[in-house]
Amino acid sequence: MPDAFPNHPSYCGLRERFVHAATQAGASLSRYDHPLPGPFGESLSTDVAWLGNPRAERVLVTLSGTHGVEGYYGSDCQSQWLETYGTRELPDDVAILMIHLINPWGTAWMRRVNEDNIDLNRNYIDFTQPLPDNAAYAAIHDVYTCTDLEGPSRAQADARFNALVEEHGWAQLMAIVGAGQYQFADGLFFGGHAPSWSNQTLRQILATHLGSAKVAMTFDLHTGAGEYGHPMLMTIVQSAYPALPDAQSLFGPWLYTLITAANTLSDTGVAATSTGYTSQALLDALPEVQLMPFVIECGTWPGPPMHAQLRADHWLHLHGDPLSEQGQMIKRGLLEQFYPDDSDWQALVGLRTRQIWERALTALIHQDYTPKTPRADLSTSPQE
Ligand SMILES: [Zn+2]
Repeated sequence: MPDAFPNHPSYCGLRERFVHAATQAGASLSRYDHPLPGPFGESLSTDVAWLGNPRAERVLVTLSGTHGVEGYYGSDCQSQWLETYGTRELPDDVAILMIHLINPWGTAWMRRVNEDNIDLNRNYIDFTQPLPDNAAYAAIHDVYTCTDLEGPSRAQADARFNALVEEHGWAQLMAIVGAGQYQFADGLFFGGHAPSWSNQTLRQILATHLGSAKVAMTFDLHTGAGEYGHPMLMTIVQSAYPALPDAQSLFGPWLYTLITAANTLSDTGVAATSTGYTSQALLDALPEVQLMPFVIECGTWPGPPMHAQLRADHWLHLHGDPLSEQGQMIKRGLLEQFYPDDSDWQALVGLRTRQIWERALTALIHQDYTPKTPRADLSTSPQE
C-alpha cells in the first residue's frame, strides 16, 4: 500500500459512510463496479441508493463526483442528508435517487477528470456526429504538455502561458480552454472520442431507475467555480427546456440560468462555451420526463491558482508519479482547490445544499407539475 498518497479524506471513507448511511435509512442499494483500482489497490464503484416507492413518479436525483475530486463535497452532502433525514417518510409518489460518485476513479485518484483524462462534463455528446472543433485550443495545447514541472522548459511554457493571458485576457483564455476539446487526449478539458465508463454507467442507472418517473429534479454537485464559500444554484443547458419556467418559478432569484453556446462568456466561472454537459445528457436520456436539471456549484479559490493546480496535476499524470511524495503534495494542493480544508466552508456549502434539496422535495410533494405543453409541440418551436 503506498504511504505517499493522501489517505484522508479518501474514496474508501466516502463510500463506506454513504453505504452505511443509505443502509441505515432503509434505501435499496445497487453497485456499478469500475474496471480499475484506486491508488491503494482498492475496488472502485458507483453506488446508487433509492429511497421510497420503486414506482414513484416524482423523483429527486442527486449526483456526486462528475468531476472526481469535487465528489468530496458531493458525497458529504449526500451522506449528511441520509444521516439526518434518511428515515423520514416519503409520500407514495415521491422517491429519492442518490448516485454516489459517478466518476469513482477521479475521486479516488483526486482528479477532476476520469481514467482516460476525460472531462465528463464535455463527454455527454453525440459521438455519431462530427466532433466539435476547438481550433483556438489547438494553438495553445503545447503549454499543457511540457514534460517538466520545473526548469528551463517549464519556464518557457510559463512565459508562453503568461503571454497568452496578456493577449486574450484571463476570462477569454479560460473560455477557450474550458470550452473543451476533442483533438488531444493529453490535453486539458478533453471530451473523449467515445462515451466514457461513467457516461455509459449514468445512462444505465437512469434507464434502470427512472422508468416510472414523470417529473424529476436532478442536482449535479460541483465545486471550484465562483466566489469562495458561495454555493450557486444553476441550470446549464444548450437551449430552453419545457420545465424551465417551473424551475425558475420554484427558485426565483436563487436560480442562475446559463444557456451555453460558442463565443459566450459567463461571469459565473462556469464555462459557457462548452458542449457535453451532464444536464443536456439527462434531458436527452429522459425525453418523457418533465425534467428540471440543476447544478449546484460551490465557489472556492480564484481562477489563476486553481488553474495552476490543474496544470500541476495534469503534469503529474502525464509525466510524474502520483504515488510519490511530490505526487502527494500536488494532490493536497488540488484537493484544497476543490474541497477547502476549512470547516466553515464545508458547513456552509452543506447547509445551502440541504436547503435547496428541501425546497425541491417540498415542491415535488406539493406542486402540480403536470406538463402544460406536450413535448411534441415544443420540439418544433424555433427556440430549439
Ligand atoms: Zn465541476
